[in-house]
Amino acid sequence: MKEYSINEPIIKREIERPYQICTCCVMDTSDDDISFDEKGVCMRCNEYKERIEPEWKHGRGHEKELGKLISDIKRKGEGKDYDCILGLSGGLDSSYMLHLAVREWGLRPFVFHIDAGWNLPVAEENIRKITDKLGVELHIEKMDWQEMKEMQLAWFRTGLESLDAPQDHAFIALIDRFSRELGVKYILNGYNISTEIIADPASWGKGAGPTGDGTYMRDVIKKHCSVPIKNYTFTNGFKHKFWIPYVLGVKTVKPLNYVPFTREEMIKTLVDEYGYIPYGQKHFEDLLTKFLEAWWMPTRFGHDIRRAQLSSLVVTGQMTREEALAILENPPASEEECAEMFREIAKRLEISEEELREYHEMGECTEKFRSQEKLYNFGIRLYEKLGIEKRIRK
Ligand SMILES: [Zn+2]
Repeated sequence: MKEYSINEPIIKREIERPYQICTCCVMDTSDDDISFDEKGVCMRCNEYKERIEPEWKHGRGHEKELGKLISDIKRKGEGKDYDCILGLSGGLDSSYMLHLAVREWGLRPFVFHIDAGWNLPVAEENIRKITDKLGVELHIEKMDWQEMKEMQLAWFRTGLESLDAPQDHAFIALIDRFSRELGVKYILNGYNISTEIIADPASWGKGAGPTGDGTYMRDVIKKHCSVPIKNYTFTNGFKHKFWIPYVLGVKTVKPLNYVPFTREEMIKTLVDEYGYIPYGQKHFEDLLTKFLEAWWMPTRFGHDIRRAQLSSLVVTGQMTREEALAILENPPASEEECAEMFREIAKRLEISEEELREYHEMGECTEKFRSQEKLYNFGIRLYEKLGIEKRIRK
């Protein structure tokens, strides 16, 4: 595994430009779309300073908005088994969200977890500890492993970077399904400015459709899956972006932005209250995602997702830029651990290590997949015209 390095990735960069790193955060030209002002500050840092921070105020001063949201959720949930839906990955954000929702706000969420076959023991233990102590019933959606395995292989065969698509789409599709079936009007989303304001660059998802795009999902399956997919739950842009929010009136809310907290405080609360086990880097509760983010993306594409994660902490004042740069000096996981994960992934996918290596070394994806991208873009423009929402993409 030694021959691979983030500085010499398999996929060479299309646009040759001199290396540059933001003088404020740690985002750099590994994002093709990054731009800098005359002081060398990237556009994301500027957007944060000018538009986001003044409104967000580090989560402070939103008591009224939060109070109204909680009472709305409770009122609309009266007489129902649940008043909201929460997807629990076992990761930090959704775990903290569950803690606040139940313990602090007295909500009654329908809590579900997707078992796509890649959970690391730490995820399952954290989920069990928190749901047990809070006394909430956990609904585990166990995916059909044969199908998940075949779909995962299909995505490896495309050469695309967005290899988490089968898991990510399933998550969105199940939320859509549960919100219809349960008649619940609120979905609690764990997205938060505090740890996620610097998003993963869109340029890293090149060639893939939007996460909720069923047309794209089905086209990859059609072209690269050797078995029919029958038990998997799909959604599509129309259902996800229009029918559910505007016809059924289901709101996706992000209440973590109404409360002040730092990443450290989140971890401390969960450790103290539930015996939560911290597991280091974000998304490292899932074997496949850990493998992709620690090894596959850096060595195949030259992308280190920690740049975005650390930049979020830097711009929000939770870490210095120097501390972030020092972390980036070292790889996300040791060579031995990456080699171990490589063997384990091949074994679970029931392919030879040679085959997995071929996917890692194949050229960039040039294949085009059908997608609802045009519909999405039309929807975004339409909603903007109607002033419904500024951005609906995420
Ligand atoms: Zn920046």
